[in-house]
Amino acid sequence: MITLALSKGRIFDETLPLLRAAGIEVLEDPETSRKLILATNKADLRVVLVRATDVPTYVEYGGADLGITGRDTLIEHGGQGLYQPLDLDIARCRISVAVRKDFDYASAVRQGSRLRVATKYVAIARDFFATKGVHVDLIKLYGSMELAPLTGLADAIVDLVSTGNTLKANDLVEVETIMDISARLVVNQAALKLKQAALRQTIDGFAAALRQAPDRNS
Ligand code: AMP
Repeated sequence: MITLALSKGRIFDETLPLLRAAGIEVLEDPETSRKLILATNKADLRVVLVRATDVPTYVEYGGADLGITGRDTLIEHGGQGLYQPLDLDIARCRISVAVRKDFDYASAVRQGSRLRVATKYVAIARDFFATKGVHVDLIKLYGSMELAPLTGLADAIVDLVSTGNTLKANDLVEVETIMDISARLVVNQAALKLKQAALRQTIDGFAAALRQAPDRNS
């Protein structure tokens, strides 16, 4: 049995067409079913639903053989023990620095001020500002990052941006892009040896599906 870890929402929705192209149908809809283990039309492949940030952990410890997760989540997790054979080019977005419209970010950075930065992505933010030589106090949040500059909790946020509508709706502006993000296939290293044939088939199925639809997101 091969177990694939997915998170509900954008990753699940954008993985379905890839699975379908590889001849795999998930037999239950996570939006209507409360089940966390979903059968597929392949008797030896099942899907488990976990939180996005738990996908690397499930795969690292063998709770799942493979998983699909954002590059952001992988970097924050550290990616230890994970084989990352494919960029699936789904759930595309970027991770950026944003501030209030009336905050002079360029001057603050130029003058060497100490910036207060709120984010869920502490490792990514720490590395980015360290490379720039900007001193930051990082405040870890788990959601609603956009609120931090509006309430005076922080000068800036580091968050995922897709269309930019969420920032705009909250009077924030994107001042720097840190990196582009997309979802990756990750595989447990030990499983790759123990279940080599079945896993290779699944990985190759994803690779072939990607080749069939290279411009899906453009
Ligand atoms: P948008 O308004 O389209 O720029 O989307 C921004 C909001 O959606 C932020 O709250 C982000 O945290 C979230 N978001 C954007 N892209 C992704 C993604 N690929 N995965 C998870 N959350 C995302």
